[in-house]
Amino acid sequence: SEPNGWVELDVPEPDAEEFTGPQPVVAVVGRPNVGKSTLVNRLIGRRQAVVEDVPGVTRDRVPYDAQWNGRQFAVVDTGGWEPDAKDRAAAIAAQAETAVTTADVVLFVVDAVVGATDVDESAVKMLRRSAKPVILVANKADNSSIEMEAATLWSLGLGEPYPVSALHGRGSGELLDVIMDRLPEAPKIIEDRPRGPRRVALVGKPNVGKSSLLNRFSGEVRAVVDAVAGTTVDPVDSLVEIGGEAWQLVDTAGLRKRVGKASGTEYYASLRTASAIEAAEVAVVLLDASEVISEQDQRILSMVTDAGRALVIAFNKWDLVDADRRYYLDREIERELRRIPWAIRLNLSAKTGRAVDKLAPALRKALASWETRVPTAQLNAWLTALVQATPHPVRGGRAPKILFATQAGAAPPRFVLFTSGPLDAGYQRFVERKLREEFGFEGSPIEIAVRPRK
Ligand code: GDP
Ligand code: GDP
Repeated sequence: SEPNGWVELDVPEPDAEEFTGPQPVVAVVGRPNVGKSTLVNRLIGRRQAVVEDVPGVTRDRVPYDAQWNGRQFAVVDTGGWEPDAKDRAAAIAAQAETAVTTADVVLFVVDAVVGATDVDESAVKMLRRSAKPVILVANKADNSSIEMEAATLWSLGLGEPYPVSALHGRGSGELLDVIMDRLPEAPKIIEDRPRGPRRVALVGKPNVGKSSLLNRFSGEVRAVVDAVAGTTVDPVDSLVEIGGEAWQLVDTAGLRKRVGKASGTEYYASLRTASAIEAAEVAVVLLDASEVISEQDQRILSMVTDAGRALVIAFNKWDLVDADRRYYLDREIERELRRIPWAIRLNLSAKTGRAVDKLAPALRKALASWETRVPTAQLNAWLTALVQATPHPVRGGRAPKILFATQAGAAPPRFVLFTSGPLDAGYQRFVERKLREEFGFEGSPIEIAVRPRK
């Protein structure tokens, strides 16, 4: 410890990658055998190209994670051509329609050696009617003479054809640059952003024990924090050590050396609570375990979930809980906290110090859940199995299909399900429950949006 009383602490390593914003989707369409699979493998940077050399092989519509110049996107290989489609143009139309609906950018792949065929032209009609950007890829341009011939594909009316050899890699860097230009606000990978201590809101109704809990932690570890570039710590915040780590408890000014109670109205207190939650990444909501869970407690919990923050519920004054109270509290929890079964719960006592050491691990766990990112391929492998085992119930003779899902963002995790129609609220809850069973998210809210095709 330093002479001035400051404590030297390890500030957590900044995340190498941080995921922000919606993940854009690139769909690859085109008639069989033009090299779509080969191109997908090229775009995602994979060598093991699993390419079936049979025209019309049915493939699953699977999204893969890809990156180019620090930007992330998903690539969807639109296989799934009907092998026995009597009317091939109809199959193409259906394929193009699905791809166009769910994608942000469409790669339309043509065989540059063969040139534009009737089948290509009927697909183009569909694509041109859409508002989605289409990039024309002239594949199998293995050498410069084929590359030159690719210019004839201007006739398709989709603009400039981009010659590529998916097999050998020729032109693929240029194609990726063009895709990046057309992608809507693709998420950037923020590298090496220096990060100070995590921001925690310590909230709860008056007299629940906030100051008592705060006083349990050794304070003012500013020396370390100021060393981290770009860190700004509000003077109304407390920097404290919890579990060997520095944490920033937001808007705790006055909690420590408070003279007398009830400074300000309840309305004012509630505004402060809301702004503290807003400024934090994770909230510790203190409840008085010796008292009935009140409406005021519920309002504070809702502020946290509405703000999309990670949540730890601390039942304080556990030293006052006897077997009798325990019995009723269990029932209250079941009834009153039913909507947030995922919150991390701790039974502690600021007075005796009971379980106070569990707070730091709980905060770390909640924040890890809050920042979880599920890889698109893993998400869809799980989803496919789920939907197969328990399909959406049939309504009026039809059941909406879930085409695929991506995680649109983190902190908190947000998912988008692309579907063929609106989902029942009950089925959507089922998907959320199963998603939590599979991936956890303990201590974090998650959001699921459904994007039905028009
Ligand atoms: P898909 O049916 O459109 O997915 O086409 P595939 O990716 O399965 O490719 C069909 C055939 O074309 C395979 O034999 C590939 O090896 C071949 N192919 C794909 N891309 C190229 C390329 O750039 N040049 C050449 N010469 N062949 C290619
Ligand atoms: P705040 O208004 O939320 O900051 O609550 P305080 O920390 O000022 O605590 C209010 C009262 O509850 C004080 O009399 C504390 O001594 C008491 N208190 C706080 N924590 C505990 C606890 O764990 N057990 C018991 N028995 N009393 C506590």
